[in-house]
Amino acid sequence: MKTIKVQSNRREELVEITREVAREIPASGEGICVLYTQHTTCGLTINENADPDVKHDILLFLKNTIPQFYDGFRHFEHNADAHIKSSLMGFSLTIPFENGKLLLGRWQGIYLCEFDGARERKVLVKIIT
Ligand code: ZN
Repeated sequence: MKTIKVQSNRREELVEITREVAREIPASGEGICVLYTQHTTCGLTINENADPDVKHDILLFLKNTIPQFYDGFRHFEHNADAHIKSSLMGFSLTIPFENGKLLLGRWQGIYLCEFDGARERKVLVKIIT
């Protein structure tokens, strides 16, 4: 099991980790790469890495849909929004690979979705061949 460390710089941010994950892929053979994060206020997703406005729009939509301060939220840390957003994004990804390459689509990148930064996060990487 490998661990990728990810530093976020804002409370909410999509941090691309495609290169860091690609480094863990074996040069030959095929299999799946499982990514998993043990945190409760960040998630993982795959989405477009060509136009940075896509990241902006995802974060804007989530922020407007799930505000940090919402009448009735009870969680004492005042980050219930981060917990909800993380659950919506999910805590794991499964990506196939072949001969040293992740089989991502042409416009796809892998992102850690930070919702309660800035802080250092860890992503576990399991290669299954
Ligand atoms: Zn909390």
